[in-house]
Amino acid sequence: MDFSSKLLENAVYEMSQLPGIGKRTALRLVLHLLKQPEERTNLLSEALTDLRAKVNFCKSCHNISDTEICEICSNHKRDKSLVCVVEDIRDVMAIESTSQYNGLYHVLGGKISPMEGIGPQDLSIVSLVNRVKEGEVKELIFALSSTMEGDTTNFYIYKQLEGLDVTTSTIARGIAVGDELEYADEVTLGRSILNRIPFENSIKAS
Ligand SMILES: [Zn+2]
Repeated sequence: MDFSSKLLENAVYEMSQLPGIGKRTALRLVLHLLKQPEERTNLLSEALTDLRAKVNFCKSCHNISDTEICEICSNHKRDKSLVCVVEDIRDVMAIESTSQYNGLYHVLGGKISPMEGIGPQDLSIVSLVNRVKEGEVKELIFALSSTMEGDTTNFYIYKQLEGLDVTTSTIARGIAVGDELEYADEVTLGRSILNRIPFENSIKAS
Protein backbone atom coordinates (compact mmCIF):
# COMPACT_ATOMS: atom_id res chain seq x y z
CA MET A 1 0.00 0.00 0.00
CA ASP A 2 1.41 3.37 -1.04
CA PHE A 3 0.62 6.09 1.41
CA SER A 4 0.72 9.77 0.55
CA SER A 5 1.29 10.60 4.20
CA LYS A 6 3.44 9.13 6.94
CA LEU A 7 0.79 10.16 9.50
CA LEU A 8 -1.85 8.21 7.62
CA GLU A 9 0.46 5.22 7.25
CA ASN A 10 1.14 5.15 11.01
CA ALA A 11 -2.54 5.35 11.91
CA VAL A 12 -3.40 2.56 9.46
CA TYR A 13 -0.55 0.43 10.77
CA GLU A 14 -1.70 0.78 14.39
CA MET A 15 -5.30 0.05 13.47
CA SER A 16 -4.27 -3.05 11.51
CA GLN A 17 -2.66 -4.52 14.64
CA LEU A 18 -6.16 -5.23 15.97
CA PRO A 19 -7.45 -8.80 15.54
CA GLY A 20 -9.48 -9.35 12.39
CA ILE A 21 -8.50 -5.97 10.91
CA GLY A 22 -6.55 -6.19 7.67
CA LYS A 23 -4.75 -3.26 6.03
CA ARG A 24 -7.73 -2.38 3.80
CA THR A 25 -10.24 -2.35 6.67
CA ALA A 26 -7.75 -0.37 8.75
CA LEU A 27 -7.52 2.23 5.99
CA ARG A 28 -11.32 2.44 5.71
CA LEU A 29 -11.69 2.94 9.48
CA VAL A 30 -8.96 5.55 9.66
CA LEU A 31 -10.45 7.53 6.75
CA HIS A 32 -13.85 7.25 8.41
CA LEU A 33 -12.47 8.68 11.65
CA LEU A 34 -10.86 11.47 9.70
CA LYS A 35 -14.23 12.48 8.26
CA GLN A 36 -15.84 12.61 11.71
CA PRO A 37 -15.78 15.80 13.81
CA GLU A 38 -12.46 15.96 15.67
CA GLU A 39 -14.34 15.60 18.96
CA ARG A 40 -15.48 12.06 18.07
CA THR A 41 -11.93 10.87 17.49
CA ASN A 42 -10.86 12.53 20.73
CA LEU A 43 -13.60 10.75 22.65
CA LEU A 44 -12.45 7.44 21.21
CA SER A 45 -8.79 7.97 22.06
CA GLU A 46 -9.68 9.26 25.52
CA ALA A 47 -11.88 6.24 26.23
CA LEU A 48 -9.03 3.92 25.27
CA THR A 49 -6.37 5.88 27.18
CA ASP A 50 -8.63 6.01 30.25
CA LEU A 51 -9.43 2.32 30.05
CA ARG A 52 -5.76 1.45 29.79
CA ALA A 53 -4.72 3.73 32.63
CA LYS A 54 -7.51 2.95 35.06
CA VAL A 55 -8.62 -0.58 34.27
CA ASN A 56 -8.92 -2.74 37.32
CA PHE A 57 -9.46 -6.45 37.72
CA CYS A 58 -11.58 -7.87 40.52
CA LYS A 59 -9.24 -9.22 43.20
CA SER A 60 -11.41 -12.28 43.62
CA CYS A 61 -12.64 -13.38 40.18
CA HIS A 62 -10.38 -11.33 37.82
CA ASN A 63 -13.31 -9.87 35.92
CA ILE A 64 -12.82 -6.29 34.69
CA SER A 65 -14.25 -4.02 37.34
CA ASP A 66 -14.25 -0.35 38.34
CA THR A 67 -13.98 -1.39 41.96
CA GLU A 68 -11.55 -3.63 43.85
CA ILE A 69 -14.18 -6.36 44.18
CA CYS A 70 -16.58 -6.53 41.24
CA GLU A 71 -20.35 -6.11 41.44
CA ILE A 72 -20.97 -9.83 40.93
CA CYS A 73 -18.63 -10.92 43.73
CA SER A 74 -19.96 -8.30 46.14
CA ASN A 75 -23.63 -9.03 45.43
CA HIS A 76 -25.10 -10.68 48.55
CA LYS A 77 -27.91 -12.27 46.55
CA ARG A 78 -25.49 -14.43 44.56
CA ASP A 79 -24.67 -17.99 45.53
CA LYS A 80 -21.06 -17.93 46.74
CA SER A 81 -20.81 -21.71 46.90
CA LEU A 82 -20.92 -21.91 43.09
CA VAL A 83 -18.06 -20.74 40.85
CA CYS A 84 -18.17 -20.91 37.08
CA VAL A 85 -14.68 -21.13 35.55
CA VAL A 86 -14.40 -19.25 32.25
CA GLU A 87 -11.69 -18.31 29.83
CA ASP A 88 -12.29 -14.59 29.52
CA ILE A 89 -14.56 -11.70 30.32
CA ARG A 90 -16.69 -12.21 27.23
CA ASP A 91 -17.83 -15.55 28.66
CA VAL A 92 -18.96 -13.83 31.87
CA MET A 93 -20.98 -11.41 29.76
CA ALA A 94 -22.48 -14.25 27.70
CA ILE A 95 -23.50 -16.27 30.77
CA GLU A 96 -24.83 -13.19 32.58
CA SER A 97 -27.06 -12.42 29.61
CA THR A 98 -28.82 -15.79 30.06
CA SER A 99 -30.07 -14.73 33.54
CA GLN A 100 -29.95 -18.45 34.39
CA TYR A 101 -26.90 -18.41 36.63
CA ASN A 102 -26.72 -16.98 40.12
CA GLY A 103 -23.27 -18.07 41.26
CA LEU A 104 -19.88 -16.38 40.96
CA TYR A 105 -17.16 -16.62 38.31
CA HIS A 106 -13.46 -17.15 37.96
CA VAL A 107 -11.83 -15.64 34.87
CA LEU A 108 -8.71 -17.61 33.92
CA GLY A 109 -7.46 -15.18 31.30
CA GLY A 110 -7.04 -17.86 28.62
CA LYS A 111 -6.41 -21.58 28.42
CA ILE A 112 -3.34 -23.76 28.57
CA SER A 113 -1.85 -23.88 25.08
CA PRO A 114 1.70 -25.20 24.61
CA MET A 115 1.49 -24.17 20.93
CA GLU A 116 1.02 -20.54 21.92
CA GLY A 117 3.41 -20.81 24.84
CA ILE A 118 0.67 -20.38 27.46
CA GLY A 119 1.28 -22.46 30.57
CA PRO A 120 -0.72 -22.82 33.81
CA GLN A 121 1.41 -20.11 35.44
CA ASP A 122 0.12 -17.58 32.88
CA LEU A 123 -3.46 -18.11 34.00
CA SER A 124 -5.18 -17.32 37.29
CA ILE A 125 -5.25 -20.96 38.38
CA VAL A 126 -3.38 -20.57 41.68
CA SER A 127 -5.88 -17.96 42.84
CA LEU A 128 -8.74 -20.29 41.85
CA VAL A 129 -7.30 -23.12 43.94
CA ASN A 130 -6.83 -20.66 46.81
CA ARG A 131 -10.46 -19.60 46.53
CA VAL A 132 -11.49 -23.24 46.86
CA LYS A 133 -9.14 -23.72 49.83
CA GLU A 134 -10.87 -20.87 51.64
CA GLY A 135 -13.78 -23.28 51.94
CA GLU A 136 -16.82 -21.34 50.81
CA VAL A 137 -16.85 -22.77 47.26
CA LYS A 138 -18.66 -26.10 47.03
CA GLU A 139 -18.89 -26.55 43.27
CA LEU A 140 -16.78 -25.48 40.30
CA ILE A 141 -18.45 -25.43 36.91
CA PHE A 142 -16.02 -25.66 34.01
CA ALA A 143 -17.30 -23.57 31.12
CA LEU A 144 -14.29 -23.41 28.83
CA SER A 145 -14.69 -23.97 25.12
CA SER A 146 -14.53 -27.69 24.34
CA THR A 147 -11.32 -27.60 22.36
CA MET A 148 -8.24 -29.63 23.18
CA GLU A 149 -6.81 -26.61 25.05
CA GLY A 150 -10.06 -26.20 27.00
CA ASP A 151 -10.07 -29.87 27.96
CA THR A 152 -6.39 -29.75 28.96
CA THR A 153 -7.07 -26.74 31.16
CA ASN A 154 -10.10 -28.33 32.82
CA PHE A 155 -8.13 -31.47 33.56
CA TYR A 156 -5.14 -29.55 34.90
CA ILE A 157 -7.37 -27.63 37.32
CA TYR A 158 -9.21 -30.82 38.27
CA LYS A 159 -5.87 -32.40 39.26
CA GLN A 160 -4.93 -29.33 41.31
CA LEU A 161 -8.11 -29.76 43.33
CA GLU A 162 -7.37 -33.31 44.43
CA GLY A 163 -8.06 -33.79 48.12
CA LEU A 164 -10.09 -30.58 48.38
CA ASP A 165 -13.73 -30.63 49.39
CA VAL A 166 -15.26 -29.41 46.14
CA THR A 167 -17.46 -30.89 43.41
CA THR A 168 -16.58 -30.27 39.76
CA SER A 169 -18.99 -30.21 36.87
CA THR A 170 -18.89 -29.17 33.26
CA ILE A 171 -21.56 -27.40 31.27
CA ALA A 172 -23.67 -29.73 29.14
CA ARG A 173 -22.79 -29.28 25.51
CA GLY A 174 -25.72 -28.26 23.41
CA ILE A 175 -22.94 -26.29 21.84
CA ALA A 176 -20.91 -27.90 19.06
CA VAL A 177 -17.32 -28.84 19.81
CA GLY A 178 -14.97 -25.92 19.39
CA ASP A 179 -17.72 -23.30 19.49
CA GLU A 180 -17.01 -20.34 21.65
CA LEU A 181 -19.42 -19.58 24.48
CA GLU A 182 -19.97 -16.04 23.33
CA TYR A 183 -21.56 -17.26 20.10
CA ALA A 184 -23.94 -19.69 21.76
CA ASP A 185 -27.51 -18.44 21.94
CA GLU A 186 -28.79 -17.48 25.37
CA VAL A 187 -31.37 -20.25 25.71
CA THR A 188 -28.88 -23.00 24.79
CA LEU A 189 -26.20 -21.57 27.03
CA GLY A 190 -28.61 -21.10 29.95
CA ARG A 191 -29.84 -24.67 29.58
CA SER A 192 -26.32 -26.08 29.35
CA ILE A 193 -25.45 -24.52 32.71
CA LEU A 194 -28.61 -25.82 34.39
CA ASN A 195 -28.05 -29.30 32.91
CA ARG A 196 -24.39 -29.49 33.82
CA ILE A 197 -22.86 -32.90 34.33
CA PRO A 198 -20.26 -34.15 36.84
CA PHE A 199 -16.78 -33.53 35.44
CA GLU A 200 -15.76 -37.17 36.07
CA ASN A 201 -18.45 -38.30 33.59
CA SER A 202 -17.09 -36.01 30.91
CA ILE A 203 -13.61 -37.49 31.23
CA LYS A 204 -14.99 -41.02 30.88
CA ALA A 205 -17.02 -40.00 27.84
CA SER A 206 -14.03 -38.68 25.92
ZN1 LIG B 1 -15.35 -10.46 41.04
